[in-house]
Amino acid sequence: MPAQYWAIAIHGGAGESEWEQMDPATAVTYHDSLAKALSAGSAVLKRHGKALDAVEAAVKVLEDDPLFNAGRGSAFAADGKNEMDAALMDGATLAVGSVADVQFTRHPIALARAVMEHTPYVMMVGAGADEFSRAQGLEQQPPSFFFTELRWREFVSIMRTSGRPVPPRPAGVGPATGPTASAGPHMFGHRFGTVGAVARDSEGHLAAATSTGGMQGKLPGRVGDSPLIGAGTYASDHSCAVSGTGVGEYFIRLTLARQICTLVEQGQTPQQAADHMIHTELPALKGGEGGVIVIAPTGDPIWSSNTLGMFRAKEAEGSEPDIHVK
Ligand code: ASP
Repeated sequence: MPAQYWAIAIHGGAGESEWEQMDPATAVTYHDSLAKALSAGSAVLKRHGKALDAVEAAVKVLEDDPLFNAGRGSAFAADGKNEMDAALMDGATLAVGSVADVQFTRHPIALARAVMEHTPYVMMVGAGADEFSRAQGLEQQPPSFFFTELRWREFVSIMRTSGRPVPPRPAGVGPATGPTASAGPHMFGHRFGTVGAVARDSEGHLAAATSTGGMQGKLPGRVGDSPLIGAGTYASDHSCAVSGTGVGEYFIRLTLARQICTLVEQGQTPQQAADHMIHTELPALKGGEGGVIVIAPTGDPIWSSNTLGMFRAKEAEGSEPDIHVK
């Protein structure tokens, strides 16, 4: 296969009112976080690593970053627990690994990769997936590791607004640190904040990865689009690689990621295909909002969103990183 120019794109979630409220200091903080994750992914591609390794590397950085709703900083289910979902897909082989409702793995995307590489399955959920994670020797963390005051405050407000009881703070988390904790650039709550990456390596292979804490206040056991192959995550060298963010139920109903790739197979450009799904099909289902990043076997990565904002960044061989907070 001829050498291709490598490229990568990442996202850190999409949303609405949050973007209106974002102050400049917060924007800088998010910009720096995106830059760090992008460079973790592009470092893999620069040394001719695999697209699959690049998307995993970028997503791990975002999972560790408490600003985003994935790994550390995840949203809370209605019982006050973190139930995290993640998936990745190798466009060269169509190999897939996916996990849902896991609670203790520091990097859910690494657990998805372990499902891909060390089981005959494509998806594992709940207690069984947590058990498999321990058996694989992946780093385990208690609920207090994933907890952030910002995400908890946002959760409490969503529970109150919807008239539901607020569960106790997770075990091991101290008392609330008071109103002053709301000061500073990190005070940027949002319902979304899922993270994802798509990449093409110098062999021309594609990969996609997505990781999330899901929707704030979701019922325990709810699974979104991120770990469902074809909904929030998809990759095939024959069409494109996609990672999505938004209200997962709509992405699932449209098999949105796979649908973008089908349109690309039928001759649309990635931008045309993504715009059609995001600006026509998604809003046609009342409440369908969100965005995607897409990369194809040729050309730069693209993105499309129907929300006010989407944290996103991309880099291609020979160009500077292109980072957008708004
Ligand atoms: N798509 C995610 C979910 O529904 C949420 C998000 O993208 O923020 O679980």
